Amino acid sequence: MVKVSKKIILISLLLLVFFVVNGIFLFLITNYIKYDARIVNYAGIVRGSIQRAVKLEMCGKKADEIIEKTDIILELLLEKNYRFKLYGIRDRPFFDSIQELNKKWDALKSKLEIYGKNKDSRIRADILILSEECWNLANTSVFEAQFISESKFKYMNFILLGTLVNLCLIILIILMVKKWVYDKLEFSALYDNLTKCYNRASFYFHLKNEIRRAERYNSSLSVIMFDADYFKEINDNYGHDIGDSVLRTIADICQKSLRKNDYFARIGGEEFAIIALETTLKQAFIVAEKLRIVLSRHVFRYDLKVTVSLGVAQYAKGDTEDDIMKRADVALYKAKHNGRNRVEMEDL
Ligand code: GH3
Ligand code: MG
Ligand code: MG
Repeated sequence: MVKVSKKIILISLLLLVFFVVNGIFLFLITNYIKYDARIVNYAGIVRGSIQRAVKLEMCGKKADEIIEKTDIILELLLEKNYRFKLYGIRDRPFFDSIQELNKKWDALKSKLEIYGKNKDSRIRADILILSEECWNLANTSVFEAQFISESKFKYMNFILLGTLVNLCLIILIILMVKKWVYDKLEFSALYDNLTKCYNRASFYFHLKNEIRRAERYNSSLSVIMFDADYFKEINDNYGHDIGDSVLRTIADICQKSLRKNDYFARIGGEEFAIIALETTLKQAFIVAEKLRIVLSRHVFRYDLKVTVSLGVAQYAKGDTEDDIMKRADVALYKAKHNGRNRVEMEDL
């Protein structure tokens, strides 16, 4: 269970990383595309403005404002920080045509100035040729800018993929949390929280089933019940926490000493019980005696010594789980009565 919760935390962290990376990527791409759109727009303005300036000047009107605006935009486009941002994309053709356009535009402007003073037809022809060249270069730069901008859309696929991964991780986390909660509920329904061995409810459930099986196959089955001696004193002298740790240690020692198919449970505060399968009363007595000795020899925290008193009973035909437990309890009471730290069998 601890492992599952660690996995959930790990996957949640992974989700967070993916989410942040995807978010940053999306932010950058949209920003770059926005940036590109401005460049495409500027290149378009330059393309149109040059043609308008030529047309007006040729008609004998002043186009100073348009020329100035074109100069400013061209200057901006030639600035380094107006370069296309995303790495891996070739922006050279765009800047080459802008640089070329800038040169042609300078030539065109001086021709326009001369034409303003002298309406010579050869100059007019030069202007028309230069204006056509400017149109072609500006047109190329617009298309190049558009091409670069559109090619950035392919990065959107990565964002889509990242979003899908995020979605899968969210579903995975939901499923894992669901399983974790289910396991936790199942654990507390079957096991004792303090000692992690079976609880009273699951002990009785199993005893009922094992009695049915013993009845059917005529096999032997015994129950060992035990209770810590003078446990109140341990709590009073050392505190409840030490008392709890003693109970945990008792459960650990017993689980290690018993066979795998023996069913060990905490059925009360400091009371425990064992279902010993295929075990007669005498054999169960030996098991109980072994537990008593192991526990009485163990040195607990703070050099504490703890003993237990045990009662043993064997399943008899027609017994219910309450019948056999009652007889084991009577035997346990006898062990207490006879001085504690001992095993007593039911009266036969
Ligand atoms: P006896 O030898 O007759 O069994 O004496 P005892 O003191 O063990 O018996 P008694 O039934 O009088 O007291 C049992 C004590 O066990 C009382 C209670 O404080 C303690 N106890 C019960 N459950 C827990 C528990 O979960 N943790 C701790 N630390 N103590 C518990
Ligand atoms: Mg006790
Ligand atoms: Mg008790």
